[in-house]
Amino acid sequence: MFSSKEEFQRHFLKRLEMMYGKTFRESTRRDQYNTLGLMVREYISSNWIRTNESNRTASNKQVYYFSIEFLLGRMLGQNLINLDIREIVQEGLAELGIQLHEIEEAESDAGLGNGGLGRLAACFLDSLASLNLPGHGCGIRYKHGLFDQKIVDGYQVEYPDQWLRHGNVWEVRKPDQAVEVAFWGYIDVHEEAGRTVFKHVNHEHIMAVPYDMPVIGFRNKTVNTLRLWSAEPSPAISPSADLIKYKRDTEAVSEYLYPDDSHDEGKILRLKQQYFLVSASLQNIVSSHRNNKGNVCDFHEHAAIHVNDTHPVLAIPEMMRILIDQEGMGWDEAWHITTRTFSYTNHTTLSEALEKWPVYLFKPLLPRIYMIIEEINRRFCEALWNEYPGDWGRIEQMAIIAHGVVKMAHLAIAGCHSINGVAKIHSEILKHREMKLFYEFEPEKFNNKTNGITHRRWLLKANPELSALITEANGDGWVKDAEKLSELRRYVHDPSFKEKLSEVKQKRKKILAERIYQQTGLAIDETSIFDVQVKRLHAYKRQLLNVLHIMYLANRLKEDSNFSIYPRTFIFGAKASPSYYYAKKIIKLINSLADKVNNDHKLSKMMKVVFMENYRVSLAEDIFPAADVSEQISTASKEASGTGNMKFMMNGALTIGTLDGANIEILDAVGENNIFTFGLSAGEVLNYYESGGYRAAEYYHHDSRLRQVIDQLMNGYFHETEGEFGPIFDSLLAHNDEYFVLRDFSSYAEAHERVEAAYIEKDSWLEKSIINIANSGVFSSDRTIKEYADDIWRIHPI
Ligand SMILES: *Cc1c(COP(=O)(O)O)cnc(C)c1O
Repeated sequence: MFSSKEEFQRHFLKRLEMMYGKTFRESTRRDQYNTLGLMVREYISSNWIRTNESNRTASNKQVYYFSIEFLLGRMLGQNLINLDIREIVQEGLAELGIQLHEIEEAESDAGLGNGGLGRLAACFLDSLASLNLPGHGCGIRYKHGLFDQKIVDGYQVEYPDQWLRHGNVWEVRKPDQAVEVAFWGYIDVHEEAGRTVFKHVNHEHIMAVPYDMPVIGFRNKTVNTLRLWSAEPSPAISPSADLIKYKRDTEAVSEYLYPDDSHDEGKILRLKQQYFLVSASLQNIVSSHRNNKGNVCDFHEHAAIHVNDTHPVLAIPEMMRILIDQEGMGWDEAWHITTRTFSYTNHTTLSEALEKWPVYLFKPLLPRIYMIIEEINRRFCEALWNEYPGDWGRIEQMAIIAHGVVKMAHLAIAGCHSINGVAKIHSEILKHREMKLFYEFEPEKFNNKTNGITHRRWLLKANPELSALITEANGDGWVKDAEKLSELRRYVHDPSFKEKLSEVKQKRKKILAERIYQQTGLAIDETSIFDVQVKRLHAYKRQLLNVLHIMYLANRLKEDSNFSIYPRTFIFGAKASPSYYYAKKIIKLINSLADKVNNDHKLSKMMKVVFMENYRVSLAEDIFPAADVSEQISTASKEASGTGNMKFMMNGALTIGTLDGANIEILDAVGENNIFTFGLSAGEVLNYYESGGYRAAEYYHHDSRLRQVIDQLMNGYFHETEGEFGPIFDSLLAHNDEYFVLRDFSSYAEAHERVEAAYIEKDSWLEKSIINIANSGVFSSDRTIKEYADDIWRIHPI
């Protein structure tokens, strides 16, 4: 499109004039952003068409990644990088007197996800396109993504996200490809020409309209598609209906993202969203397959469909419905195709997060789907009976429908050919604990795919300073092949490289410090240790452990004049689900602690506590590069993988963490001298749960420093409203500390002493930092996606 900055400027100014009828001087940042976005779209349009075309005509198998969440963040900067035009654009704009990053900030984050699960889906899309793989996302175009968080008097307050308020330059509405999705009604079963016909009558129709977004590969010609469905009123509605109510009810289906990623939301609207996503996507995929190939008998040879957690698992009975009711196929053939098409990733072992739907809600909303699940269940239990004759107990535990609920994970396991966990330990826990009976029945289905992150966003884009240093040392081969980061190992003892790495980190700490100052008015010490915990707020992630430890340090500093610490800045970022009362209390506690510490003359010289509001992808991109210490302190066995841990590592932060999720694989990659581990192992935690042998109160009684901080939750130390932190106090003592905060406290405090001692040895700290960066290549989602492509999906580059 343009080969020089002058050419870019000409195009840009012309476009701006045409679109807004304004001169450059009159234009706003948003005008400029939209103009750039449209230029990018124009630039990629022929490659997008070509990728679609070759997918349609070639016999290359396609993969569709079904996910209820895609946490994309901003797109402009990454797209410019992937198209290799960021520099020209940046220089061209600079001559016009504007900074590209100011324009980038005019873009709203696409926050169509809660956290790790949705961000994983977004990283996978980047890797699929960058590896030239024919893979596409299917999701929901929520009008409001994850809520905006403001902190008012220390409390989280939620505001609806308005990411579409100013339009979305990246999407293309495709009304001609709209499909209808049916709910409610009943099934009329009758014989017609010798076969049984299931007719869904008296149902309510919703129209699903696709919006396509381009997913641009890194410096290749691939442009894949993320298809997001929007719910709209169907024109086929009967004129007698209450149109206003119908419109409202319909649009509600794609109105809000559920702001909860770890509890089963027992809401009928949520179930509607799930079926809406899979029905629209599947009808579309199957019909385009039929149009191209003439029939659907070999569907599974041309398409693989992945379900990201159980939320899209209704795709399995929906596929059966389409093949049987619409394509006229028999059950066995339909089941053969379906089970070879689908694969499933499990993301959690938290039992409260395993989806279960009460039959009394499910059956009326999705009558035909329910019938099909009943039949899947009947056949599944029959197979179990043949394998384990007489073992009623086992079959009862494994059934898909039992005790009045539909168990979505069981449906996934029965209907998929592959079931994977997201880190080695997580996959082992699935096989030997959580899904033990299923593993015994069909062991060949189970496998591990350790999560990854796209290093093109989390290093190349987020940290241009470190990227330039790596490229200067080793060339830019690492951008296409993250394993090449390992070449940095030869600089571990190179004084000049270490010095430059230290400068890069310092620069990024300064940038974050400025942002903190702008947002909170707090001036932090840029030479202090930046100790960071950013992730969703959840009891199992144990932000509380971090807080209690900071309180402990504060007490010692106040009381013991011989005690000193290396200056620290403790940085938190976290959203709590609006309905998660306990998590919100922890946010309040962090903010109360920040008030206490930052306003104390003596303490604030040695430490600061910062809560950065509205943690999201674009904020994360400023935080990871600035971190010295990465807090990954979940109760062992609870964090399936974690991906934040990988982003920190890749940016040279050192991990203080439990032996949980991918932390264990980080330990394997860097060696025990380059990570600070502590606490109970997963096995020890699980044994405690089984034996019931944990007594939290003992730790309270036997450790006076720990007792002091716990008492401070209740004794007015924070000048809080009476009882404010009672629920936290009770969680630790009255409810016997379900997440072993007290049990791991001393081990955690001791690990922090090791962190501090290591940080003071500046030179060896930098060596550890290099070792972390150099060994982070294995955590690129390119590696993860290659494993999915080879082992599960069996797809090949375009
Ligand atoms: C990576 C990421 C997460 C996941 O973080 P974990 O520490 O793995 O829980 C959540 N939210 C955002 C915005 C992220 O970028």
